[in-house]
Amino acid sequence: MTGYRNVYDEVSRVSGGKAVLVAVSKLHPYEAVLEAYAEGARIFGENRVQEIEAKFPLPEERPEGMEVYLIGQLQRNKVRKAVALVSRIESVDSMPLIQKIEDESARIEKTIDVLLELNSSGEEQKAGFRSADELFDAACYIISSCPHIRLRGVMTVGPLGFDYDKNREAFIAAEQAFSRISSLSPDIDVLSMGMSADWKEALEFGSNEVRIGTAIFGERK
Ligand SMILES: *Cc1c(COP(=O)(O)O)cnc(C)c1O
Repeated sequence: MTGYRNVYDEVSRVSGGKAVLVAVSKLHPYEAVLEAYAEGARIFGENRVQEIEAKFPLPEERPEGMEVYLIGQLQRNKVRKAVALVSRIESVDSMPLIQKIEDESARIEKTIDVLLELNSSGEEQKAGFRSADELFDAACYIISSCPHIRLRGVMTVGPLGFDYDKNREAFIAAEQAFSRISSLSPDIDVLSMGMSADWKEALEFGSNEVRIGTAIFGERK
């Protein structure tokens, strides 16, 4: 058994049933994915294209309703595989990457869901757009020029370590970036923030999708 059921019940209770739970299965084997699936999990988060390719069956061969989201940094040379293997890319953080995703999705006549990632903590090593202005411009570009991308919202990763005030600032910045783009399209309805250590705080600041790994599957090796 995984911790999926407990985490799901807690997230449902705290969010009043409003938040979606992404089960982050990176570095755990496919057997663990199937266990969580049997317990009700449908959406799995992975951070590397190669790991998705090695671990999961092809989309049409996966169990009914199983979805895989890419939540980790995506290199341009992996975009072709990524758009074929996942239904959503949550870590889109540059204009060249957006263009590449549009081109590769058009090539296979697919429309892919994306979230724009905000670097809400200002940490140098973190991925994500550096400011809400840059993120807003990217959103406008997708809406006006990328017919094979459906923009769904904003994703952020809270600051390293747990500090309530820093988390709070990061979550507020992401919520503001989300509010700013949400009027651009009715499809924009996802604010993805919160992991094992900080999901309750993220929900307080408007998250409607949490990405939880450790609390479900245990420590990663
Ligand atoms: C690994 C990861 C998570 C889950 O982290 P846990 O602390 O194990 O819950 C969430 N989001 C992203 C982007 C990740 O890389």
